[in-house]
Amino acid sequence: MSDAELVLRSTRVITPEGTRAATVTVSAGKITAVLPYDAVIPAGARLEDVGDHVLLPGLVDTHVHVNDPGRTEWEGFWTATRAAAAGGITTLIDMPLNSLPPTTTVDHLRTKQDVARHKAHIDVGFWGGALPDNVKDLRPLHEAGVFGFKSFLSPSGVDEFPHLDQEQLARSLAEIAGFGGLLIVHAEDPHHLAAAPQHGGPKYADFLASRPRDAEDTAIAALVAQARRLDARVHVLHLSSSDALPLIRAARAEGVRLTVETCPHYLTLTAEEVPDGASEFKCCPPIREAANQDLLWEALADGTIDCVVTDHSPSTADLKTDDFATAWGGISGLQLSLSAVWTEARKRGHGLEDVVRWMSTQTAALVGLGQKGAIEAGRDADFAVLAPDETFTVDPAGLQHRNRVTAYAGRTLYGVVKSTWLRGERIVADGEFTDPKGTLLSRPR
Ligand SMILES: [Zn+2]
Repeated sequence: MSDAELVLRSTRVITPEGTRAATVTVSAGKITAVLPYDAVIPAGARLEDVGDHVLLPGLVDTHVHVNDPGRTEWEGFWTATRAAAAGGITTLIDMPLNSLPPTTTVDHLRTKQDVARHKAHIDVGFWGGALPDNVKDLRPLHEAGVFGFKSFLSPSGVDEFPHLDQEQLARSLAEIAGFGGLLIVHAEDPHHLAAAPQHGGPKYADFLASRPRDAEDTAIAALVAQARRLDARVHVLHLSSSDALPLIRAARAEGVRLTVETCPHYLTLTAEEVPDGASEFKCCPPIREAANQDLLWEALADGTIDCVVTDHSPSTADLKTDDFATAWGGISGLQLSLSAVWTEARKRGHGLEDVVRWMSTQTAALVGLGQKGAIEAGRDADFAVLAPDETFTVDPAGLQHRNRVTAYAGRTLYGVVKSTWLRGERIVADGEFTDPKGTLLSRPR
């Protein structure tokens, strides 16, 4: 401890044991100790006293579409990681699709890593993709360090990333289970989607009817059955349908290795308030009714849903047309996720400790990043400094995203990120960024 280079002090440090006044010592990018507030500052250490602002572990967002290379007019590593840093996120795991190439072979992974390496303002890792025809690539990708494999059970929205039918899912999942990997799944059943009324046009109610809850419920039930049969580890991406919660609870109770995430937009926005034609609110599965949202919050509170991730999936503004059937499906919220979730969480009686658990500790655990996700000795010195009671009104012009289209425009949110720290270095403070200091992460062995 006497070799600490940096000491952060706050009256409110969120640790695994709760929130308390503390002094956190840092050496070589790692937390070396969490000491009492009035601990003696080691000689030669630089003190950063953040006063009553909250010191929390940097968030770990395991669901981000950076789209780089290939669709960099939609987003990119430079802009995405700056937006993330501005929002208190210090680690992101990039989704394998919407970039060109998609991350479906080791060669493609290397291409993406080369692009990310010098643009990453935060730490970046990669998911691989499981396609109908790349079963042979899965083990090499696993060994090359991807954190798991994404697949779709219904069309993904881009031609180069086809979905798996049940037989293909079984084959990929058996392969992945064979090397102890993780399959993460966009769970909407294509037959239920095809059977739903497809009116198109600007009415949100028509769009909602076109992506019914039973499409999610059916796909999740089938996934649970496959996971049970193969004793495989699976993760449900972006859960929206609260109707699936009973079957998720039952599966977990019987020991199926299943984890579940949801997203800020399902927790903070409701179908009732989406204006017709406002396709900045379009994503799949869709934002559902307020009563559905209440049940998602209950499931977060009781642990049925493990974590909250952004599913940041932007496009250029011209693809966000006023026809919900053809507009690009994806919500842009990377920079705003902490404040959006915190605003709703505090209203519902949750503490910042809960938000940290959902958005940092448990997302780090999902991908096995034992060095992230908590303020305790031995972990990386990744922090966000937050003024939780300050508010701001979302002005798209203030976003670092490449495209400043957001469903949160005009909302007043609680929680202003004052600074973000990556391995002991302040990477952004009050809108001023350092040069990129992110590293590329691989699945721990
Ligand atoms: Zn996604």
